Amino acid sequence: MNSDYMVRDAMKIELDGALSDSPLHGSSLELSDAEKMKKIEYYFTQIMDTLGLDLTDDSLKGTPKRVAKMYVKEIFRGLNPDNKPKISVFANKYGYREMLVSKDISLYSNCEHHFVPIIGKVAVGYFPGEYVIGLSKINRLVQFYAKRPQVQERLTVQIAEALKSALHIDNVAVVIEADHLCVASRGIKDTNSKTVTSSFSGKFENESVRQEFLSYIHEQK
Ligand SMILES: [Zn+2]
Repeated sequence: MNSDYMVRDAMKIELDGALSDSPLHGSSLELSDAEKMKKIEYYFTQIMDTLGLDLTDDSLKGTPKRVAKMYVKEIFRGLNPDNKPKISVFANKYGYREMLVSKDISLYSNCEHHFVPIIGKVAVGYFPGEYVIGLSKINRLVQFYAKRPQVQERLTVQIAEALKSALHIDNVAVVIEADHLCVASRGIKDTNSKTVTSSFSGKFENESVRQEFLSYIHEQK
């Protein structure tokens, strides 16, 4: 990542809040959550009906409403900038300058090509400068960007850029290892393959630093 990219991205974050890089049209912001749920409930009813499902069946009749609520309030809540976690950072008063690694962060997202789950683990590393971030905040940032229809590459970059911007540093690493259920359960039905994506900036572009980070995240417990 060069500095041009960072400047551009920082500007974008300022312009459109939390929506940097996800392909969105702006008019979704004009609808309330309740209005979105009403529309989704209606269209999901049409989908189920088209598939031949009997919507008067006791087990099925509540499904469109449940799906609508799950989309808006849970698995796609990261599309609403109001849900972006407040990221407070603290002065690095211990003067800690070594690598900090947060790993095995659970990832539950959804593939934007098939709307089926992406399940994996995220590892984040950074070298503190003036600021440090609460560890739970890293987790919250990951969850926020995961709760969108995603591709793993974009998710990786969004997490990295959000951390750089919050901490005012460039020395950030993000690695995501995930299973895509669209690969495991349909199409080529490969249940063993995993997809690994990474973003290494600043000091992490140095080979030995990168190796140190990777050795921490692959350490056996
Ligand atoms: Zn897919």
